[in-house]
Amino acid sequence: SPLGRSPAGGLSVFVTDRSPVACYIGIGSNLEDPQAQVHKALDDLHGLPESLLVATSALYRSVPMGPPDQPDYINAVARVDTQLEAAELLRELQTIEQRAGRERTVKWGPRVLDLDLLIYGNERIAEDGLEVPHPGIRERNFVLLPLLSVAPDLEIPGLGPVQQLADAAGHEGIVRLD
Ligand code: ATP
Ligand code: CA
Ligand code: CA
Repeated sequence: SPLGRSPAGGLSVFVTDRSPVACYIGIGSNLEDPQAQVHKALDDLHGLPESLLVATSALYRSVPMGPPDQPDYINAVARVDTQLEAAELLRELQTIEQRAGRERTVKWGPRVLDLDLLIYGNERIAEDGLEVPHPGIRERNFVLLPLLSVAPDLEIPGLGPVQQLADAAGHEGIVRLD
């Protein structure tokens, strides 16, 4: 990834004056060693261009939301500060999914890797193929609990404090792993 000089004189991943945007990415896997898939995905997020991986949550195990005849999921959330546009970031996430061998078949069916752009700064985006904040955040505890752990004071644009949403979503069907 491109490296520039930061004002302090050290090396920085940020090469322009554009302010980095704080983003949160939801990670899920329930195929082909899901824990390893999530760790690999975190590694890939670390390598995103013009971006800094700032925080990662613990891993969580959750029951599937879609068809019940599939393995449990491993979930996590990462904070990435990026100078990429939202659409560029989503494309990068989809490239990482593809490299992991993601196949789209059944809606909410099993997958080796799912990367959802949950939040892109304070922005609210409703385009073809890109909705931010991600519409699933509100009721999904497997998103809200790891998100709360990395950003306890976060206000989700249009939805309110993450703490309030997490309280409402509860802990059913999810455990935090050590
Ligand atoms: P869900 O979106 O309900 O979590 P899913 O993750 O299984 O379900 P996918 O098949 O991974 O859904 O993605 C379907 C489409 O969602 C993608 O083609 C993508 O363009 C679109 N999409 C819209 N907004 C977002 C977002 N914020 N993050 C990721 N994908 C998004
Ligand atoms: Ca998803
Ligand atoms: Ca997705």
